[in-house]
Amino acid sequence: MAFFNSFGGFPHGHHSRSRETDNTLYDLLGVSKNASETEVKKAYRKLAKQYHPDKNPDDGEKFKEISYAHEVLTDPRKKEIYDRYGMEGLKESGPDGGPGDMDDIFSHIFGGGGGPFGFGGFGGAHHRHRRRKGEDKMHQLKVSLEDMYNGKTSKLQLSKNVICKKCKGYGGKQGTKRHCSPCNGRGIRITMRQIGPGMVQQQQSVCSECRGEGEVMRESDKCRECDGRKTIKETKILDVHVEKGMRDGQKIYLRGEGDQQPDVEPGDIIIILDQKEHDVFKRQGVDLHIKHKISITEALCGFSFKLTHLDGRELIVKSHAGSVVKPDSMKLVADEGMPMYQSPYEKGNLIVKFIVEFPENSFQTHEKLLEIENFLPKRPPPQHPESNDAEDIMLMDLDPNYRDGKSRSAAYQEDDDDDPRMGGGHGVQCQHQ
Ligand SMILES: [Zn+2]
Ligand SMILES: [Zn+2]
Repeated sequence: MAFFNSFGGFPHGHHSRSRETDNTLYDLLGVSKNASETEVKKAYRKLAKQYHPDKNPDDGEKFKEISYAHEVLTDPRKKEIYDRYGMEGLKESGPDGGPGDMDDIFSHIFGGGGGPFGFGGFGGAHHRHRRRKGEDKMHQLKVSLEDMYNGKTSKLQLSKNVICKKCKGYGGKQGTKRHCSPCNGRGIRITMRQIGPGMVQQQQSVCSECRGEGEVMRESDKCRECDGRKTIKETKILDVHVEKGMRDGQKIYLRGEGDQQPDVEPGDIIIILDQKEHDVFKRQGVDLHIKHKISITEALCGFSFKLTHLDGRELIVKSHAGSVVKPDSMKLVADEGMPMYQSPYEKGNLIVKFIVEFPENSFQTHEKLLEIENFLPKRPPPQHPESNDAEDIMLMDLDPNYRDGKSRSAAYQEDDDDDPRMGGGHGVQCQHQ
C-alpha cells in the first residue's frame, strides 16, 4: 500500500513526527501544502472525473480517498486540524463527518483494511469498540431509459465470500488455535534497517507465519470445507430494484451484501446506475426531449405524428393548420416526461424540438412557384441600383466544411496538386456542371 510507507518508518506513538510529515491528503490531490482552496477544488475536479466510479468501477477506493481529501482540505476547520495534527487529529476530532466512513477511509489510506495496520495499530491510544465494517463494493448496472421510466427489478449475480458454515468462521476445530510465536501473536513483525550512520528505520510487515492473524493452527485441525480460510466463495443472485424516476449515476445500496469475514460487519454492495443512450428520448432532469422532423408544408399547414412512449403507449401529437411551427422551435407536451423519483405519479414534461425540412432546389417549375407565391406573405419589391456600375451577384452554395476564406484557398491549392488526369479541382468541376 503506497500510503503506508510514509508512516511505516516511525514507531508507534511518535505523533510529533508524523505531524510534520503528513502530506498524505495533499499528495492524494497532487497539490502543495500551500495550495489555495480554489486549487484544491480544481485538482479534485480533475481527479474526480478520472476516477469517478461511473468510468472506473474498480477505482472506487481511489475515488473515496480523493473525495475525503477534498472534504477535509476545503473545510477550514478540518483543514486546520489536519495541518496541525495530521490524520490522527482528524480521527480524534470526533464524530462529525461520519465515523463509519472515516474508519473505512483511514484504514484504506493507511493500508491493511483494519488488520494489524488498521486504526487500532496506528497511533495506538484508541481502541475501537464498534464492530469493524468490511469494504463496500461498487458495481455498475447498465439500464435503459425504459427501465428508469417503468421501474424494473434486475438480477445481479455476484460471487462473494461468506462465513464457512461448517466451522462457523473459526477455520477449524474449535479451540485448536495457538499463539503465533514468530510475531508473538501481534500479527506483524518489525524489522530494523540501517538507513545511514546512526539512523535506523523500523519497518513493519505482516507476519507470514500467521498471515497477520496472530494465531496459527495445525494443518490437520483445519476445516476441510474452507481449508482454514474461514470463508468460502458463494455465487449469489441479488434483486436490484430500479425504481421509477431513478437517474443516471444514482446509487442503490444493498446493505450488508458485501464479503463476509468473521467479526466484521459486511460492507455494502453499491450499485451505480449507468443509463444507456436512447435513440429517441434524451433525458434532462425530469423532462424528456425529442427532435422531430417535419416538412415545410407540415410546418405551415399542420400535422400529426405518432410517438411511442417509453411505456409503449402511442401518443398522437397534433398541430392544427394555421399554427406555424418555426425551424428549431420547441413545443411542450405537459406531464409526458419522466416520473419523479419516489413520487412517480408526478411527471416532468415532454419537449419537442422541430427540425423543419425545406424542399430541394427546383422542386417546382417557375410557373408553379409564382402560383405558390400568391399564397405566401408578400415579398419586398426588387431593388434597383442607384449607380450604373452596380454588379449582379449570384449566390453559390456553401460547402458545409467551409470554415473561413483561408481554408477555402487551401482547399483549392490541394486541388491544384491533384493529378490532372483525375480531373483535379473537383469542386470547380461541379460548379461548371
Ligand atoms: Zn470452515
Ligand atoms: Zn504470526
